[in-house]
Amino acid sequence: MSNPTLGTVTCPTCGTEGAEVRQSKRRGGHLYWQCTDCGLSQPTGATIQKRLWRETQWATGVQPIRPANVPDDTERPTPAEFDPNEPEPETDTPSEPQPSGRPSPARGVGVLLLGALGVGAFLATR
Ligand SMILES: [Zn+2]
Repeated sequence: MSNPTLGTVTCPTCGTEGAEVRQSKRRGGHLYWQCTDCGLSQPTGATIQKRLWRETQWATGVQPIRPANVPDDTERPTPAEFDPNEPEPETDTPSEPQPSGRPSPARGVGVLLLGALGVGAFLATR
């Protein structure tokens, strides 16, 4: 049983695009990739793991588990940033009905803020 493909990456070894990225189920949860040119690569060093974590274009809906040796604060762009053509997920989820004629709480706060700013500006100019 091989692990499922979680996304793709430009092969860090040879630069071939579209190498399939998978994740080991073993301890450490290291990422590895299958390149059409140079085959399966499974380096577990922190530098390459971090690079894979950052550079992999994760498939939609994939929730990869951070490899053990990749620090918490390593940036990982969301899949949405990779695929602008992805349809908005909002359309399938039922949106909450907005009561008409009543300002939303957020808007009320905005009005209050504007009011406060106005008073502040008024006081400042006196
Ligand atoms: Zn390669």
